[in-house]
Amino acid sequence: MSNVTHEVTNQVEPLVDVNLFRANRPLQDALRFNLPAFDEDRFHALGDEVGSAAMQRHARLANTFTPALRSHDRVGRRIDQVEFHPSYHALMESACRHRLHGTPWSEGPGGHIERAAAFMLFTEAEPSILCPISMTYAVTPALRANAALTAAWGPGLASAHYDERFLPFGQKAGLTMGMGMTEKQGGSDVRANTTQAHADGEDAWGRRYLVTGHKWFFSAPMCDAFLVLAQSAGGLSCLFVPRWRPDGSANPIRIQRLKDKLGNGANASSEVEFDGSTLGWLVGDEGRGVPQILAMGALTRLDCALGTAGLMRQALTLALHHTRQRMAFGKLLSEQPLMKNVLADLALESEAATALALRLARSVDASEHGNDAQEAVIRRVLTPIAKFWICKRGAGYAQEAMECLGGNGYVEEGGEGVMARIYREMPVNSIWEGAGNIMALDLLRALRGADVAAALAQELAPARGEHAAFDRLASTLPDRIDGSTDEAQARMLARDIALLVQAALLRRHSTDAVFAAFCGSRLDRAADVFGLLPAGTPFDALLERALPR
Ligand SMILES: Cc1cc2nc3c(=O)[nH]c(=O)nc-3n(C[C@H](O)[C@H](O)[C@H](O)COP(=O)(O)OP(=O)(O)OC[C@H]3O[C@@H](n4cnc5c(N)ncnc54)[C@H](O)[C@@H]3O)c2cc1C
Repeated sequence: MSNVTHEVTNQVEPLVDVNLFRANRPLQDALRFNLPAFDEDRFHALGDEVGSAAMQRHARLANTFTPALRSHDRVGRRIDQVEFHPSYHALMESACRHRLHGTPWSEGPGGHIERAAAFMLFTEAEPSILCPISMTYAVTPALRANAALTAAWGPGLASAHYDERFLPFGQKAGLTMGMGMTEKQGGSDVRANTTQAHADGEDAWGRRYLVTGHKWFFSAPMCDAFLVLAQSAGGLSCLFVPRWRPDGSANPIRIQRLKDKLGNGANASSEVEFDGSTLGWLVGDEGRGVPQILAMGALTRLDCALGTAGLMRQALTLALHHTRQRMAFGKLLSEQPLMKNVLADLALESEAATALALRLARSVDASEHGNDAQEAVIRRVLTPIAKFWICKRGAGYAQEAMECLGGNGYVEEGGEGVMARIYREMPVNSIWEGAGNIMALDLLRALRGADVAAALAQELAPARGEHAAFDRLASTLPDRIDGSTDEAQARMLARDIALLVQAALLRRHSTDAVFAAFCGSRLDRAADVFGLLPAGTPFDALLERALPR
C-alpha cells in the first residue's frame, strides 16, 4: 500500500559548486577599478573553494555544533579551553591559507585591497569564524608600538598556517590574536574600564604588569594573545596578554562562560577574568591605551563593512537563485514585475556596499604604502561612515532577501537554512567595534581634521553634473561638514556622505543604469523598504548585471 499523498514539485535546486567570484560581476569590477593588476588566479581559486559543497557543509556543521567551554579537566584542574567542531578548524585553515589574516602587512602595495576583496568573498562561505581572522589582521599596526613583541610574534601572525593546538607561541606554526575592551559597565565608553594593571618590572617584551579584572565580551578566547585595556598608574593603557607566559606556564585567563548569542554561532564569545597573576606587557605609552587599541579597532571596523557587504551579496545570490526557479501564479517569481523591483533594489544596495567597502580598503592600502594625504583623510572619514551605513542596512536587507524565499527562508532545518543564518548574523557587525551612534559621533570627530571638505569634493567630483539628485545633495555638504553639525544629526550626515560616495563610485565602475537607479532611488528621498524603484527603472538591465553567470 502506498503512503504517498502527493508529489513535491516547484522546488529549487541547491546552489552549490559555483565559483562565487566568477558569479560576482560587481565585485570583479570594483576590484579591477581599485587594483587593476589584481591576481585573478587567486580569486578564482578562492571563488571555487568558498562556493563548494565541502565549504557549505563545514559552515553548516560549525554553526550547528557550536563551541563548548571546558573550564576544568576531568580531575578538577582549571584548563580554560574551548572546544570546536572540526569544521570550525577547517574553515579557519582555509581563511589562513587564503591569507585573510596577518599577511598583507608583509606584502607590497595592493595587498590590503586583495585581502579585503577575498575577505568579502569568504564571508559568503561562513562569516563568524572571520572574527579571530579579522582581529589577527587588525592587530599589527597597534602591536608595532612594542618592537620586541612585533619581532617575536609578527611572523606567526602572518603565517599562512593555521595551528589549532593550545601551545606556547614558540611551538606553533601560526598565531591568532583577539581584543578585550568591553566590560560589564560599558563597552562604548571604555574609559570607564575598571581592570587594574600593577607594574611588575621589565623583561625582553618590555614593561610587565599584573592584571586584575574582567572583560564582559572577549571573542575567540582560544586566540594566542589579546590586546587588553586596563588602568595602570599612568591611566588607561593597552596591554598585550598572551595565553601562555614566556616561562611556558599558562597565563591565567579564566573563561567564566561562553555567550549564548543570537547568531555568530561558530565563533566563541566569552566572559573572562584576570586573577591578579595574569601577566600583560605594555604596548605604546601608559595612559594612551584608547588610541593605541583603536589602531586595531579602525581595521576591524573596515572588516565589519566588508563582512556585511559579503553577507548582502550572499543573500542576494540566494534570492536571485531561488526566484529564478520558483513559480507562482503561472510565472517564475523572478519574472513578476514587483519581485523584479525588489530584486533590482537589493542588487543596487549590494553593489553600492561592495563599492564603498572596497574603496575604504584602498585608502588603507594607500596610506600604509605612501604619504598620500588625500587617501589618509578619506580613510579616516570613510571608516566610521562605511561601518555605520553598510552595517546599518544589513539587517533590513537580510529580512527582505529572506522574504524572497517565502516561508522556507525562515526555516533552519538542521542548519541548512542559510538565509536564516545570514539574518541572525547581520546585526552583529553593526553593534560590535562601535555601534551605530558611536560611528556617527566618530564621524563628527573626523570632520574636525584638516582638508576633509577638499578630500570629499575630490572624491565626489566624477559624479558631479551627472545626476540632478546627486548635485542637489552634494551641494548641501560644505555647510554640513564644517564641524558645526550637532550630535543629533550625525547619523543623517553619515548616511548622506555614504550615499554620495557610493554614487560616485558606481559612476566610475558600474553601469549607467546602476548609477542612475541608485541616485534616483536614494539621494532625493529616504530609502525605507526595498522594492520602491520608480516606474521606468530598467529592471532587466539591473538584474542582468547582478545575476550569477
Ligand atoms: C558577538 C559580540 C562579540 C563581541 N566581541 C568583543 C570582543 O571580542 N572584545 C570586546 O572588547 N568587545 C566585544 N564585543 C562588545 C561590543 O564591542 C560592545 O557590545 C559594543 O561596543 C557596545 O558596548 P555596550 O554593549 O557596552 O553598549 P553601550 O556602550 O551601553 O551602548 C549601548 C547603545 O548606546 C549607544 N551610545 C553609547 N554612547 C552614546 C552616546 N554618547 N550618544 C548616543 N548613543 C550612544 C551605542 O551606540 C549603543 O547603541 C562584542 C559584542 C558582541 C555582540
